[in-house]
Amino acid sequence: MEHIKTRCLIIGSGPAGYTAAIYTSRANVNPILIEGYQPGGQLTITTEVENFPGYPKGVTGPQLMEDLRAQASRFGADIRAGYVDKVDFSSRPFRIHTDNDLEIEADTVIICTGASAKYLGLDDEKKYNGLGVSACATCDGFFYRGKKVAVVGGGDTACEEALYLSNLASEVYLIVRKDYLRASKVMQQRVFDKENIQVLYNTTTAGLYGEEFVEGAHLVEHIGTDKELKFDLQIDGFFLAIGHKPNTEVFRDYIELDEVGYIKVNSGTATNVRGVFAAGDVADPTYRQAITAAGMGCKAALDVERFLAENH
Ligand code: NDP
Repeated sequence: MEHIKTRCLIIGSGPAGYTAAIYTSRANVNPILIEGYQPGGQLTITTEVENFPGYPKGVTGPQLMEDLRAQASRFGADIRAGYVDKVDFSSRPFRIHTDNDLEIEADTVIICTGASAKYLGLDDEKKYNGLGVSACATCDGFFYRGKKVAVVGGGDTACEEALYLSNLASEVYLIVRKDYLRASKVMQQRVFDKENIQVLYNTTTAGLYGEEFVEGAHLVEHIGTDKELKFDLQIDGFFLAIGHKPNTEVFRDYIELDEVGYIKVNSGTATNVRGVFAAGDVADPTYRQAITAAGMGCKAALDVERFLAENH
């Protein structure tokens, strides 16, 4: 086991984590950043990012994250692979353990662990996981060239996934539980303009079927009403895009969470434990944008600097 000490440990490598690393490195705090299972975070599995300021022509998610990582490295941030599997925030310095056997003593911590895709909770999602069920169109869309797929959800993510898949698959069904899309108007219009995307409103998924791989979904229209209609839809791929849940399980014993599991922070980025801060999607149920996560990462870094100056 390797033991290391740091004045600031940043957990997570999305826009919040890298921005916190850029700011704390430039302030000579010499941070260590632990990347987590998905280095670069959720943006590494998106396609085009059109709304991050500074990229007038847009940028791919992976490129944006590579740029942020390079910027953090440039100022000396110590970026390491690993996944935090245990923490002890009962006294300072805090103790953090990773799955690759790093034991870290940290004067301050910035939690930037983001959020992960939600599933409907059907047994069939587990049964066919990797056999036709996916929560990432850009990762798995390639396997569905010329085939029929469904995307569940009516938000911006669902529309984005449906649009991406519509360039590969022959037919895309967007399964929406209400009678409207929640996505922004511009995304909705792009979906409506695509001939091979069909929106199925008022529709829920009851299950999936297929010998080995997904061959179709059991759907219900107007569930629980007198118009209820059960039908099967033949598809080869079933993509979830119904939102995300915050990655906070490992901090649960120490850090105060809201009823959904998001970290509660004060008007800045301070958690209930003095010296532990949180930034990005893990602490933001409202905005959840790359740019707001980056902004919050900056705030957390400044909060850390102030804390270290007052508590050295
Ligand atoms: P949202 O929470 O916005 O949307 C989730 C969608 O999934 C809703 O349509 C919701 O339905 C549906 N849903 C949730 N649970 C279920 C369920 N159990 N069964 C069926 N449907 C369900 O999440 P997104 O991931 O789409 O977006 C998150 C945030 O990120 C938003 O603020 C969004 O604007 C932003 N975003 C922006 C992008 C961009 O600007 N390019 C791209 C992607 C995301 P209902 O409406 O009925 O609740």
